[in-house]
This record gives sequence, C-alpha cells and structure tokens, in this order.
Amino acid sequence: MLLADYHVHTGYTVDVKENVSIEAYLRKAEKLGLVEICFVNHLEFHPVKGLVKGATIFPDQIEEFIDEVEKAKANTSLRVKIGLEVTYTQRFEKNLEAILSQHESSFDFFLGSIHYIGNYAVSPAFSTEFSEEIFAKFDEIKIYQKYFDEVIRAVESQLFDVLAHPDLIRKIAVKHYSREIDSEIYLDMIWRVLDALDEYNVGLEVNSAGYRHSIGDCYPRMEMLKAARKKGIKVVTIGSDAHALEHLGLKLEKAVEKLKLVGYEGFYVFEKHKPRLFKLGIE
Ligand SMILES: [Zn+2]
Ligand SMILES: [Zn+2]
Repeated sequence: MLLADYHVHTGYTVDVKENVSIEAYLRKAEKLGLVEICFVNHLEFHPVKGLVKGATIFPDQIEEFIDEVEKAKANTSLRVKIGLEVTYTQRFEKNLEAILSQHESSFDFFLGSIHYIGNYAVSPAFSTEFSEEIFAKFDEIKIYQKYFDEVIRAVESQLFDVLAHPDLIRKIAVKHYSREIDSEIYLDMIWRVLDALDEYNVGLEVNSAGYRHSIGDCYPRMEMLKAARKKGIKVVTIGSDAHALEHLGLKLEKAVEKLKLVGYEGFYVFEKHKPRLFKLGIE
C-alpha cells in the first residue's frame, strides 16, 4: 500500500533520537515504500516558561530547517514536504501567530497540538512528574473536558491546517486509569471538537503513535473518526509521529484501515497549505 507519513520529527528537541537525520529518514522511507513524507519539528512555547531550549525549535533556527529539507529534496524521488508541529498555548497565541505568518509561505503544513492542560504537561516528554499532578487535582471526566477545551481553543485560533493527535490525553489517562473513558461520555465531549473543526475548516490527524505509547490504538478513537466522517470533516492526514528512525511509517497501515472502515476513500497531503486527496491504492 502506498502511504505518506505526515508527522516526522528530525531534531531541535530532546525527545528526538540523536541518530536521526533527514537523509536517514529518506533512505528508510524509500525502503518502506512511502511515496511522500512531511517533516515537522516542534515549535512550542511552554505555557509558563515560553521558549525552552531542547523543547522547541527557536525562531532563528527555522531558516536552517527549511534549507536542510530543501537540500534533501535533490537526492530522492520521494515527495518531500515541510511543516511544523505547533504546540498551542493560549498565552502565547500572538507570538505563534507572528512566527507562523512570517514563515507561512515556506511551509506546506502546520499541525496544531495540545501538549498541556493549563500548565500541566500531557505528553510527558519533558516533564514526567508534572503530568501526574493533574490526576491528583481533577477527576477523569474533568481532565478529558479540560483537554478538549484546549483543543477547541487551538482550532479556533485558525493558526493550523490540521489538528494533531486529537485525543492525546489518552496517552496518560488510559495508563493512569487502566481503561478508556466511557464511550458515551467521550462522544459527548468530542462533538464540540468536530463542530470547531468543521466551522474553521481544520483537518484531523490519525496518529499511529498510540501503538508505541502502549494504548494499542491510534489517536483519535474510532468513535471520533466515525463521527468526523458523519459530520463531513473531509481533510484527514496520517502520521507516525516518528521521533526515531524505527518509528517511521510505524502502524500507518492501521490508521488507513480505520479510515477505510469509517468510509474515507483516502487521506490528504498538503502543498503550501493546500490539501489534496491521496486516494487509497491509486497513487
Ligand atoms: Zn505532539
Ligand atoms: Zn509530534
């Protein structure tokens, strides 16, 4: 099956394995038979500390990242795209807007992510203990609600093409509670997310990293995908969220399988922020 991995990290942050390089990813992608790859690196303002070395690409490194990807295009037959995975934090929305608008035309794709609930890290790549404090403070339903509240704000900011790992909160919540939240409660909460995606014309990522985060599933749950299809959310992308060479393309076939199951005829790829349908089994 021909696939495109639209969520691949190459460096600048400490969560990316040191041995990765754009070149190495491209060789691996060729071996895997991917036809398109989109490199994204983290742009993140920590909700309290702002730009933190090791947790984000710095604005003055963005040109270097663009050059690196541009050079790599010469040595491969793959279609190579470039994007950023942007952690949305409301406090720094204006800063993000300034950076993104300055570089918009050099990028194909902006993924919007929620990695914090208030000041608490949801994806504990950089601060493990911090995420544990959420569970002491709020109950399960409240934690999910708060997460999706942040997601909705991110979508409403209109800074992004696609919403990354829409229910990443499960990365820590499923582990903590040893279960998924009740399906009906989940469905009630995610309708508001889908409304926002629809209203602001933002796409949805099916992220296969959940398989290596030991939840044995993609982000989002099937319930959300099914509902997204019903709602008429057209633009869906797939990504492995690779932070190491061995993550590239991992379980993307599962993401595609889920898309097919709910009736999508393909996924989308981007060029200069314009989505294009990549029909399954055709390209
Ligand atoms: Zn992320
Ligand atoms: Zn990522």
